[in-house]
Amino acid sequence: MAEWEYIERLRLALNMPLYGGIKSKKRIWQMNYDDANLAFNDYPFKYLMTGMFIPSELIATFDYPFIPTEPLAVSVGMMNYHKGLLERMESRYDGMQLCSAIEIMLGMFEEGLIPPPGAVVFSSYMCEDAQKMYGTIARRYNCPSYFLDIPFNVDNPSALNYVTEQLFELGQFLEEYTGCKMNPDRFRQVIKNSNEANRVRKEVLELRAQYQVTQVSDVFPIYPLFTKFGREDITEIYREIKQEMVKRIENRQIYRHRFRVLWLGMIPLLSNKFMKTLDKNYGISLALEENSIFSLWDKIDEENPWEGLARKTLSYHPLGTVDRRLAAIERFINEYKIDGVIHFSHQGCRVYNGGVSFISAHLKRLGIPFLELSGDILDSRNFNEESYHLRMEAFVELLKSKEGE
Ligand code: SF4
Repeated sequence: MAEWEYIERLRLALNMPLYGGIKSKKRIWQMNYDDANLAFNDYPFKYLMTGMFIPSELIATFDYPFIPTEPLAVSVGMMNYHKGLLERMESRYDGMQLCSAIEIMLGMFEEGLIPPPGAVVFSSYMCEDAQKMYGTIARRYNCPSYFLDIPFNVDNPSALNYVTEQLFELGQFLEEYTGCKMNPDRFRQVIKNSNEANRVRKEVLELRAQYQVTQVSDVFPIYPLFTKFGREDITEIYREIKQEMVKRIENRQIYRHRFRVLWLGMIPLLSNKFMKTLDKNYGISLALEENSIFSLWDKIDEENPWEGLARKTLSYHPLGTVDRRLAAIERFINEYKIDGVIHFSHQGCRVYNGGVSFISAHLKRLGIPFLELSGDILDSRNFNEESYHLRMEAFVELLKSKEGE
């Protein structure tokens, strides 16, 4: 059987030159290729398709091929081969108004770039568009599915129990689907792996808080790593990234731009000059991106892993009321010595965009310059570089006026 087109594209991407300072990110591309190869070529119509916010440790315990779906759209955007796909999907589904990342994912199935899964596991978080996509795929391809309902009111005392019970049920669903009993020793090991990866990940973030060792193009491939926590290779990749950063710091290979910016919302993934030249054109470093963090969860209790995973599931900072997100943003500003904040409001993304007016008002109170850029992370028809340049110039003037305050 011919190889699925997505795999061919990934193989080509592996041979492309790497931009940015962190070379070990090449391993992430290799891992994406190996995983996609296993799932799509060896397990077509059988692999598990998972939502980004399903605790990956539970899936990893089964040693069964799985593909976290939203990051696929990330790699498609970065490889820039979605041209025409969005337009074709829109004309096929007259008036379809879904997030472009979701339209691309649906289009990839429809146009046979990837095979359908055997089962779908998804959650109510992060967004309704993703829920619609998973539901559509499960129905269209007649797959068994499990839906994890993550409550909005995360601080309600019953929320932890509610999620813990569902995770236990999800474990049973996976046992039934894969035909394998959960191995308690493997489960324990996976939780240990996850805790170790999380520990190193926090060290990487601490380095980033102190030194500018990454460029814009370094951060795109790193953030979807968290969808595979629990696997041994994720811990190794984080260790490599950390070692490389330490070496760069020792060799004084540190970027020294004038302003450190916190990037909120989504990061534009389509090929564009604007993001690539932020540092050169405006003297701006991305000190931290909200998407690199998603959540800073505590160590998962190895003795009580079900509840530990439920705590992790409830820890995402954009989940719940906007106050949680504001508190996280304030913490990032202090820890990462942030001079200004940019929010990229991706068209139709209610998860992030709904909080913008609150963020803007909060940052005004704190005296932190703020800029909202609106557009689309994947659809070039809604990505107006010219207008961004004009707005950036005004933003930089504001940053300059605050310098030394
Ligand atoms: S960008 Fe927003 S709307 Fe699109 S999949 Fe992500 S959370 Fe959902």
